[in-house]
Amino acid sequence: MRRSVFNEDHQAFRETIRAFIEAEVAPVYDEWFAAGQAPRDFYYKLGELGVFGISVPEEFGGAGLDTHKFEAVLYEETARAGVNFGGSGVHVLLALPYIKMLATDEQKKRFLPRFVSGEEMWALAMTEPGTGSDVAGMKTTAKLSEDGTHYVLNGAKTFITGGVHADRVIVCARTSAPSAEDRRFGISLFAVDTKSEGYSVGRKLDKLGLRTSDTAELAFVDVKVPVEDLLGEENKGFYYLGTNLASERWGIAFGAYAQAKAAVRFAQSYVTDRTVFGKPVASFQNTKFELAACQAEVDAAEAWPTAPWRLWTPAS
Ligand SMILES: Cc1cc2nc3c(=O)[nH]c(=O)nc-3n(C[C@H](O)[C@H](O)[C@H](O)COP(=O)(O)OP(=O)(O)OC[C@H]3O[C@@H](n4cnc5c(N)ncnc54)[C@H](O)[C@@H]3O)c2cc1C
Repeated sequence: MRRSVFNEDHQAFRETIRAFIEAEVAPVYDEWFAAGQAPRDFYYKLGELGVFGISVPEEFGGAGLDTHKFEAVLYEETARAGVNFGGSGVHVLLALPYIKMLATDEQKKRFLPRFVSGEEMWALAMTEPGTGSDVAGMKTTAKLSEDGTHYVLNGAKTFITGGVHADRVIVCARTSAPSAEDRRFGISLFAVDTKSEGYSVGRKLDKLGLRTSDTAELAFVDVKVPVEDLLGEENKGFYYLGTNLASERWGIAFGAYAQAKAAVRFAQSYVTDRTVFGKPVASFQNTKFELAACQAEVDAAEAWPTAPWRLWTPAS
């Protein structure tokens, strides 16, 4: 399908990413797959390529572009090649919106240049062994010290994408008990340095899909988090999470579309090469029906007037 949504800059970016995947990812992807994670060094390469700074303001080392279209290109190209860029999606799509929305200027100066270069990889930790959908039920606590210099973090998280390699994790924790009128009150967000004493990474969880995207358990035992690392205001964390989850859903929706498109392409290639009863599988009528139906669904997703890239990106 001919598309007018991407311009020459996006096209140039697409070519760069395609060449990068061919040179740096495809040759070693089987090793990553077997290991269940992309190696830490890979994230430095993505940083060098400029992938992490696209929507980071220029004053903090990024390109300052207010658009998701480059991320959309990344999704399409990784799906096309049948590879995955590990926990980097969480770094950009989940963690960055919180930094941009909540960090003070001092925090942005401290965090963003290293975010852009890949020196500091970020993750987001909401889910706990006993708390998933019901975010307000989380049990991890962060208590302000008597001298007011730091919080003391205790608890555990699970299913944390990028948790194995993360250098800084946005940890959601209770700073106050829920109020009588609102059980969502009392959660705060912290940019926790994973080198802190008492912070540990537990098991890397085994998954059926997204195998190169590591998913970890985290534990906190009396971790001292400086007050300077509180993100936004105390006790408003739930509302911040509610605001940013939409961006995560955009990523999931776009990823699903990109993978569906790639799957049809892989299937076409297979049925063209594979021969049965002396003919390519593609030449049988039923194969054509099935593939045409799949392609029609992909085309519909691409053409849908409120398709994710139209909803979420300005005209640029
Ligand atoms: C691959 C992967 C990566 C992840 N990455 C992260 C991450 O980076 N950071 C992070 O914090 N979390 C992450 N998660 C966790 C994810 O956010 C949770 O899995 C999700 O919130 C659901 O929680 P749960 O699995 O505990 O399910 P539960 O909340 O226990 O739900 C169990 C079942 O109950 C259903 N259910 C829940 N509430 C209702 C309701 N009100 N009415 C009817 N049915 C309901 C659910 O649909 C589900 O089928 C990840 C999960 C996966 C699988």
